[in-house]
Amino acid sequence: MLNIVLFGPPGSGKGTQSEKLIDKYGLTHFSTGDMLRAEQAANTELGLQAKKIMDRGELVSDEIIIGMIRNKIKGQSDAKGFIFDGFPRTVAQAEALDSVLKDLGIKIDLMLGLEVEKDELIDRLLKRGKDQGRTDDNLETIENRINVYECQTLPLTGYYDAQNKYRGVDGLGGIDDIFGRLCGIIESL
Ligand code: ADP
Repeated sequence: MLNIVLFGPPGSGKGTQSEKLIDKYGLTHFSTGDMLRAEQAANTELGLQAKKIMDRGELVSDEIIIGMIRNKIKGQSDAKGFIFDGFPRTVAQAEALDSVLKDLGIKIDLMLGLEVEKDELIDRLLKRGKDQGRTDDNLETIENRINVYECQTLPLTGYYDAQNKYRGVDGLGGIDDIFGRLCGIIESL
């Protein structure tokens, strides 16, 4: 099994690279952002609550996120591996993930971090806002998301680094070049 956390700030290309990694390695995808947007599209109570938080660029509570992941992971023990995209985003989420995986007898092998500087992130997200109409891709929310990332999410690199699982990758360049960098690290495991 190959279980990866794909890490990086908003706009660093996690979604794009996840798709390519899923194709190549047959991984099962867990994107908490996509799960929350699916709840919104289905007009559930959770979706409505989450939308307000997401439109401010803040984090949905650990309790909700951990519950969602726990439910989705159940019954997936025949998967070839998992890729976590946009999760965990706090140390509490990382600890909860370790405990859920431990119950299944598996563990995270690697955290791959896409490194992209702030100005480039803002440009990419403003463009995505125009192209795809995501309501959280506006300047005010983007700046808040990047701050939240720096304060609450970035410390997670230390959590995985302490287990010697963190590998940072330059997230600038062509999509296939970046994909090649990620695959190089996976193949060297
Ligand atoms: P991005 O990484 O580009 O910000 P996502 O789709 O991963 O996009 O997340 C969008 C929003 O969904 C976040 O700003 C946050 O409000 C919420 N969210 C997604 N994943 C999590 C998580 N693991 N914990 C808390 N909130 C989350």
